[in-house]
Amino acid sequence: MRLVVDLNKCQGYAQCAFLAPDVFAMHGEETLVYSPRAQEEQRERLARAVAACPVQAITADGLDGPSGPAGEAAREAADGR
Ligand code: SF4
Repeated sequence: MRLVVDLNKCQGYAQCAFLAPDVFAMHGEETLVYSPRAQEEQRERLARAVAACPVQAITADGLDGPSGPAGEAAREAADGR
């Protein structure tokens, strides 16, 4: 899966780095570094990170829409389940 983070939107809140540490990492206090390609095994974690980003800075190809399994994971993450 390919992903892009809009670094103009990103505020360095680091939710994504907590939820998908194999994809996102903080470099210093505010700078996000990430892998633009995520492994298939990262799908659920990536969906949670996308849902959790407070400024919707993460866009990922290949995640299902809101009604699919990844959407369910994203809703659960948003609900705190
Ligand atoms: S959760 Fe969003 S704002 Fe926070 S570091 Fe990740 S991309 Fe940036």
